[in-house]
Amino acid sequence: MADVFPELVSDIVRAFGGPFTDTFQQLLFYGVCPSHGLPCLMTAPPGTPCPAITEVELDGETIALLYLDVDASQSVRTITHVEVVDGRDLGAPDRP
Ligand SMILES: [Zn+2]
Repeated sequence: MADVFPELVSDIVRAFGGPFTDTFQQLLFYGVCPSHGLPCLMTAPPGTPCPAITEVELDGETIALLYLDVDASQSVRTITHVEVVDGRDLGAPDRP
């Protein structure tokens, strides 16, 4: 993800800060989300469950929604999709 969408990843890192920096910088990009379409980006193999959603807020604005795979105690296992909701231009790498 950080190679394809450096600005988006750095904004998410800024929003969460410290302990999650590596997690976000190491996210892999699996293509445009088949369930939601652009601007939703897959960060886990298709079919990974995503029962939880959290908002990414930066400077008082919601920039993205993170779809999360969580375990029974609600601990995050995987970030499954990142849906960008602030209308930024992603460059649409998979646009037909
Ligand atoms: Zn999605």
